[in-house]
Amino acid sequence: MYTHHSLLLTPGPTPIPQHIQSAMNLPMVGHRSADFEQIAETAFRTLKPIFGSQHNVIILTSSGTSALEASMVNIVNPEDHIVVIVSGAFGNRFKQIAETYYENVHVFQVAWGQAFDVNEVMTFIESLNTPITAVFSQYCETSTAVLHPVAELGHALKKWDDQIYFVVDGVSCIGAVDVNLERDDIDVLVSGSQKALMLPPGIAFVAYNNRALTRFKSVRTPRFYLDLAKHHASLEAHSTPYTPNVSTFRGVVEYGHMVEEEGFEHVIQRHYLIRDAVRTALQRLDLDLLVDDTYASPTVTAFIPKDEAELKHIKNTLKSQFNITIAGGQGKLKGHILRVGHMGFISPFDLLPFVAALEVILTQYRQQSYIGTGTKAFLEVVHHEL
Ligand SMILES: *Cc1c(COP(=O)(O)O)cnc(C)c1O
Repeated sequence: MYTHHSLLLTPGPTPIPQHIQSAMNLPMVGHRSADFEQIAETAFRTLKPIFGSQHNVIILTSSGTSALEASMVNIVNPEDHIVVIVSGAFGNRFKQIAETYYENVHVFQVAWGQAFDVNEVMTFIESLNTPITAVFSQYCETSTAVLHPVAELGHALKKWDDQIYFVVDGVSCIGAVDVNLERDDIDVLVSGSQKALMLPPGIAFVAYNNRALTRFKSVRTPRFYLDLAKHHASLEAHSTPYTPNVSTFRGVVEYGHMVEEEGFEHVIQRHYLIRDAVRTALQRLDLDLLVDDTYASPTVTAFIPKDEAELKHIKNTLKSQFNITIAGGQGKLKGHILRVGHMGFISPFDLLPFVAALEVILTQYRQQSYIGTGTKAFLEVVHHEL
């Protein structure tokens, strides 16, 4: 089979809408010009409802990991004690950043594929018997496709100690979930451009509350490019401290228009609908799901083929025969799971070719007919919820 249209279903980067692509292709403007000030002001403001932030959102010209690092070095002093929740590859990254800068890093391990249990996290923090400055966690742990109950943890942390900072990595779900810094007791929420925000890779975002902003200005950990106080001062002047990725800032503005047109609530519902349909279809194809329904992410789904040979066959054949790209596992889940991304510029019908291709692949590989089973289950969920 030859397929002209490629289908990118990885949990980042994700497909870019033509509207955004076109906006990004406009002629360059100087970054110290009134033209750019207008673009920047709009871009900072556009992201407020998406992050559920009362403040304009800082934009860094660097990938998501830079925002993870920034969220740490602008909140934590060298002697502070912090807790890092590790539930997968991106939790590990937070841990690595922490250990690069700090001595007193307490790691709370969560089994890969599970969400953290709020009571267990609190018991762990209490058992440390030392004041904790900040707690770091993923919102969606992309490597396992788990969506953690961050609001629940936010409330518990603030009840325990209202001085604690709760820092959340929302790189793979912001733009697809209902989040609000104040309501959910989050102090800093970071994200990247190339996932649910349907932009190219290369810029990152930091949302913060008043307390966090004050803290950015007083923390003593050495930093230069990632000094958020400096970025914030520029933001107030509708600018950036260093040359920004002007094109992608334009993309942010266009992203705002697209979300406004669809309605953000609908954007969120669309992601959950796709999640439910994909999960139902995969189960009908005798593919096990890694994550329980309660904590399944609306942006990415992890599934478990029968064995590694089947896994490789599925991933390779999707690419070679159908021009569909999905992702494998990371870290200890490599060779054990496959991950299909479904976030950003994606509609339920964009997942239908993926499900149909799986039917063909599994029918041939397992010598057992799946034709029509996954797609039927998929469409039953979609039509029911439309
Ligand atoms: C993709 C991702 C990152 C890292 O982003 P980069 O843009 O590759 O630096 C961090 N955290 C999570 C949860 C992610 O999914």
